[in-house]
Formats: sequence, C-alpha cells, structure tokens
Amino acid sequence: MNPLTLKESRWPEGSVGAESEHLRRRLGQAGIEGAASDAAALLCWALDCDRSYLASRGEEALPPEAKARLSEAASRRVRREPLAYILGEREFWSLPFGAEPSGLITRPETELLVERAAALLSGAAAPRILDLGTGSGAIGVALAKELPGARVVAVDSSGPALELAVRNALRNGVEDRFEPVRSDLFEKIPGDESFDAVVSNPPYIASSEIGGLMPEVARYEPREALDGGPDGMRFLRRIVHEAPARLKRGGILLMEMDPAQISWCVAEVRLTRAYGEPMVRRDLAGRDRVIESETV
Ligand code: GLN
Repeated sequence: MNPLTLKESRWPEGSVGAESEHLRRRLGQAGIEGAASDAAALLCWALDCDRSYLASRGEEALPPEAKARLSEAASRRVRREPLAYILGEREFWSLPFGAEPSGLITRPETELLVERAAALLSGAAAPRILDLGTGSGAIGVALAKELPGARVVAVDSSGPALELAVRNALRNGVEDRFEPVRSDLFEKIPGDESFDAVVSNPPYIASSEIGGLMPEVARYEPREALDGGPDGMRFLRRIVHEAPARLKRGGILLMEMDPAQISWCVAEVRLTRAYGEPMVRRDLAGRDRVIESETV
C-alpha cells in the first residue's frame, strides 16, 4: 500500500483542504517544482475564487462540478502542460494576458526589457515602437500601456500568435495603438517607415538544446518561438544587422538574450558601426540579459 494514503489528513475526506493536499502530493510526485503553489492556483481556478478565500474553505466539500474541472486540469498538469495554458491566463507587467499554446509564456526576466524601453522612451511624445516576434503581445502591449502616446507595430511570423496578441491588446485597451503585421522580422515593414525603438525577445535557443529543456517548455511551448537555429543566434544576428536601416537616428535597439550570448552580441553590434557603444543590463537574478544600443 502506498504509505502516503495512510498519512492522516486534518481535513475531512472530499473537502477542499483534503483535495488540495492530495493534489499537491500528486504534482510533487510528478516532479513539478512549486507543486503547492500550482495546486492552490488550480483549486482557485476550479472553484472560481481567490487564494485568500480558498484558505478559509478547507472544511467545505468540493462541489462535484469543481471536482471534475480540477481532475481534468490536474491530469494535464501532471503531463507537464504549463499552468498558464491550463488556466488560459497569466500576468506580465502586472497586466492580464490570455495564454495559449500559439504564444510563448513570457518570463518575468522580460520585464527588464519593458522597463528599459519605457525609461528610454518616456521623454518622447509619440514614439513608434517595433516589437519583433511579439508572440502573445506581451512586450508590445505592456509598452503601449506604459507609454500612452506610443504606437506599436507588432510583428510575428505566426498567424495564430498574432491573433492572440491582438486579443491581448484588446483586453488591455491598447488596440487602437497596436498594429499587428504578419512578417518574418522586417520583411513586410515598408522601407520608408522609421522607428524610435526596435524591441525584441526573439527565439534564441540553439535547436539542439530544445529537447533538453524542461518538459513544460520542450513539449508545449511553440517551437518556433524558441528555436534560434544551430547556434541560437539566427534572429539576434539578423536583427542587429537589419535594425539600423529601420531606426531613426538616435533610435534604440533593445534585445533580450541568453546571458551566454551577450558578449557575442556586443561584438556583433560593434562590428556594424551603426550604433554607439552598447549597454548591457542585468536581470533580477544578476545575469546579463538585455542589450541596448543607440544608432549613430
Ligand atoms: N516577444 C514575445 C515574448 O517576450 C515572444 C518571445 C518568443 O516567442 N521568443 O513573450
């Protein structure tokens, strides 16, 4: 017999508290980090209540409908589907975003890129921003929200990702300043348009490394949002070289990448002679994460 089933619970059988304990254990056994927090999030979602409310409902019986929702969601999470796709929701920049498998789940590190772009553009009355590889629209929507005069052109090569980005722009009330363009990087952007900033968190993982990533990422997140080609730098490289022609003089390029790619990217930026000396910004974990370069 599984010794875990012998462990006494302080909650009555079938109660919210007991189900929560059970789910936490099940997720933990599936190797999920943060099993307790995921279990709480799934219960709140199944019960349609917030976390503080959940804490006071431990004794209550879990209604059958919530139990059915929970059980389906728990099986998906055990198969390592990301929590955000199960809930259909996530937060970025403290804003609500719909989460669907057509768009990468933007990581908290990416807030650094938004923060830097917002700081650099805060003095401009109506900055034009190009978000390359917008995915779910996280960066572009956050910037449009942060800079009320800004207009964002949001590019992605994936139609479903762009549809998600537009829904996220609508959801956050910035759709009138958010223009989706389906394009491979700059390809479909008219040559006479120039931007105050080009921002991007492009796919930057080497193709051969994707299979070794955690199952949530490797199995469920869109491969085209991760795969940066044989050395991971396919898109970073193109953006560094193609952005100067699309930026106003003194316009800025901001790109997120893997910390291990930073020194290569600094050298690549210098090589173009189109920018001043690039600045490297560190994320909250103290790792070099974002490069910012101003065109000369
Ligand atoms: N720019 C999007 C984001 O930061 C997509 C990133 C990606 O798919 N590589 O979420």
